Amino acid sequence: MPTKNCESCFMPLAKDPKKSGSDKYCSYCFSNGKLCYEGDDLKFFQKKSYEGMINHGMNKYSAKFFSWMIRFAPRWKNK
Ligand SMILES: [Zn+2]
Repeated sequence: MPTKNCESCFMPLAKDPKKSGSDKYCSYCFSNGKLCYEGDDLKFFQKKSYEGMINHGMNKYSAKFFSWMIRFAPRWKNK
C-alpha cells in the first residue's frame, strides 16, 4: 500500500490519529469539512505547524525538520 501524505502539511496520513473525512488532508489540517487554515502564507502555516508539533510533545529538532518539509507538500509546491 503506497504511503499517502497530507497535501497540506505532508504528514503521512497513516500517522493521523483521527479520521479527517478527507483522503487528501490529515485531521490537523482538515476538520468539519474544511481546511483549518485557508490562507496561502507558507511561512505562517509552517510556524503554526511547528507550534502544534511542540504542543504534541515532539522534540524541537524533529518539529523543525517536519515543518521545513511542508514546503514539498502539493498545496505549497507552486508557491
Ligand atoms: Zn495535514
